[in-house]
Amino acid sequence: MEKKSHLLNITDFTKAEIVEMLNADINSSSELFAAADETKRLYVGSKVYFRGLVEFSNICSKDCFYCGIRKSNSNVHRYNLTDEEILEAASFAYENNYGSLVLQSGELASEQFADRIEYLLCEIKALSDNKLGVTLSLGEQTRDVYKRWFDAGAHRYLLRIETSNQQLYKRLHPASHSFEKRIDCLRILQNIGYQTGTGVMIGLPYQTIEDLADDLLFMQSFDIDMVGMGPYIEHEETPLYAHNDILWPIEKRFSMALKMIAILRILMKDINIAAATALQAIDPIGREKGVKAGANVIMPNITPGMYRNDYSLYQNKPCTDEEPAQCRGCLDARLSLADSEIGYGEWGDSKHYFRRMKK
Ligand code: SAM
Ligand code: SF4
Repeated sequence: MEKKSHLLNITDFTKAEIVEMLNADINSSSELFAAADETKRLYVGSKVYFRGLVEFSNICSKDCFYCGIRKSNSNVHRYNLTDEEILEAASFAYENNYGSLVLQSGELASEQFADRIEYLLCEIKALSDNKLGVTLSLGEQTRDVYKRWFDAGAHRYLLRIETSNQQLYKRLHPASHSFEKRIDCLRILQNIGYQTGTGVMIGLPYQTIEDLADDLLFMQSFDIDMVGMGPYIEHEETPLYAHNDILWPIEKRFSMALKMIAILRILMKDINIAAATALQAIDPIGREKGVKAGANVIMPNITPGMYRNDYSLYQNKPCTDEEPAQCRGCLDARLSLADSEIGYGEWGDSKHYFRRMKK
């Protein structure tokens, strides 16, 4: 009989243990990946849930040093989908049984923006007979705005902490961007009742393995419901590009991201973990590898094809020349490679969230 891995009984790791696993060669990490896969099947099942991703605008008021659509990049062609285009994408997600939608954009903090999202949420709920789940990823907002959007039907929110190391956070952002504010926003989201998601970039300049271990422990101590984390990928037209000489090779950033997913799955067994698009930018079947490593959510891009090139956060962003229907076809075929079934038409909510709400 096959011996069960001791990792299956683990409920906590020390920082030193996490560092050791992250330092291990990917080829000697098969026990970790097998235990993460088994944990996923035991606690959240073997289904992968889709969130149709609509990147509806690349207009942003912030200036994060790593991001290709930052305000100060004047080489970006700025776009903003019309309400009709966004609702068409939502109908596509509904008709294709995606179960959920993610609305993502650059960060804007204005009354007009808040009203617009509230209106869109009501329309999306109406066109799908309340059946399409909605996740928002629209950056830092006030409690009032988060609450209005929640009341209008959004029930999940993704706001990455980017790195849990405050010093590193400061190096990655202008002085006006605040780590404390981000933490406050995450707390507010939890308090309002959102399924709350965060995440980090992996392989940033000046980031250490210890930082990454702390990131995982941060997610655990914050009792987060969902995580989307992926490799940092450089973009020439950003200030961080000047530090490219100290970056880990791209393969190392990729394998580190897979190990981060696997360790987190063992640490937080019943959360939702997304296989980030950045994995696919590095490896054509990167997201499927993410699923094998413990992820259970994929966010197929359903932004109309003509806008995709302009949402370039980093270089070689995948699928920028495809239409939404092509994306679905290619995912269907490839997920079967990861021995996973797609939870068509299901919300696939975070089981952890319901456990947290009962506390
Ligand atoms: N503006 C919102 C925000 O920042 O939360 C949502 C959109 S933003 C583009 C989504 C995520 O993209 C960020 O949280 C960040 O982690 C990621 N991102 C930005 N630049 C990246 C890069 N160069 N490599 C990998 N991920 C990147
Ligand atoms: Fe704007 Fe988000 Fe990019 Fe920062 S990461 S510049 S907030 S789009």
